[in-house]
Amino acid sequence: MINSSTYKYLNAQETPFYYYDMDLLKTSLATIKEEAARYNYHIHYAIKANANPKILSLIQAYGFGADCVSGNEIKRSIDNKFPSNQIVYAGVGKSDKEIEMALEANIFCFNCESIPEIEVINEIAKSKNKVAKIALRINPNVNANTHHYITTGIAENKFGINPWEFDQILELLTELDNIQLVGLHFHIGSQIVDLSVFKSLCLRINEIQNWFLEHQIIVDHINVGGGFGINYHKPDEEPIPDFRNYFAIFNEFLNLKAKQQVHFELGRSIVGQCGSLISRVLYVKNGINTNFAILDAGMTELLRPALYQAFHKIENLSSTDEHENYDVVGPICESSDCFGKAVSLPKTKRNDLIAIRSAGAYGEVMASNYNLRQTAKSFFSDDIQI
Ligand SMILES: *Cc1c(COP(=O)(O)O)cnc(C)c1O
Repeated sequence: MINSSTYKYLNAQETPFYYYDMDLLKTSLATIKEEAARYNYHIHYAIKANANPKILSLIQAYGFGADCVSGNEIKRSIDNKFPSNQIVYAGVGKSDKEIEMALEANIFCFNCESIPEIEVINEIAKSKNKVAKIALRINPNVNANTHHYITTGIAENKFGINPWEFDQILELLTELDNIQLVGLHFHIGSQIVDLSVFKSLCLRINEIQNWFLEHQIIVDHINVGGGFGINYHKPDEEPIPDFRNYFAIFNEFLNLKAKQQVHFELGRSIVGQCGSLISRVLYVKNGINTNFAILDAGMTELLRPALYQAFHKIENLSSTDEHENYDVVGPICESSDCFGKAVSLPKTKRNDLIAIRSAGAYGEVMASNYNLRQTAKSFFSDDIQI
């Protein structure tokens, strides 16, 4: 993935830092745009996956909208030129202040997650003489077969409105003058690699649409959320997820009514593979079963392994020696600060440059200053002068 001049450039920087392959991001965006255009699908980029302004500007330039989960994400999207009429806003805990600013910005749609939230949005919209466009975020009770921390669409989750609340909601909507129902929204989890899960989602959406149809309601759009996974084990073999087959599933199984639009909220599948966390080996320390390679990057730069035992491919960019096993760990004072156990790497020594791959999504955005760590910088392939 990295040629010798790029290596030289990276090796001259102070570690740790994020490195983004902007060519890969461009190719991914062009692919998504082309594949989505076959069916006239609308794409909103899930800002929470990576909110780096340089990455946002590029994504925005391809004409995608934004999917936000906080007021500051709405602000960041607008600052980076995402048109406000292409911004959707989800989240179980929208504060009054956030709702106010979203109304002021005239966003496309609030994805509402509870009855009390709809009532509060109505109240605030009324005070501003506005009508809020909303979609109901429905919990379809479809299991995403992914890590339980990133499953969001089964009955026990905090997300979304459950079908047994539909009657009450319809009654409520007839009473609220400052709410306009424009869509149905679903998002069942993240890192979903089994495409049959999306087929199950479509079939469930069809049933739910039928219920609304029986109650004389046809919404303008169906938002199927995001969640499409990436190949963490083989990032170079599958740098771009199979968007053609992904969109084809929805085209095949989702029953649409006349003029109904389909919206997607893609995060990880857009930015996941373009980013790597680059770090340096501080020490190699002998352990009982394997040796420890102690890096200068830790859970403060990339939290996913500590947070949900996520796998990231680890590469030694400086060595081509024979392989040995290492527990690759960070410097933070937590035992969970570990990027991988018994990782096979070429013989590793102090100052070797290490790449932790597929870190473009939920990497930089989750960084913290725990242990009073410095915030890591980011570098972009198109800034490198060769
Ligand atoms: C996180 C999130 C997404 C994006 O999920 P990915 O797995 O990164 O595609 C989309 N929609 C909502 C509501 C989310 O919370």
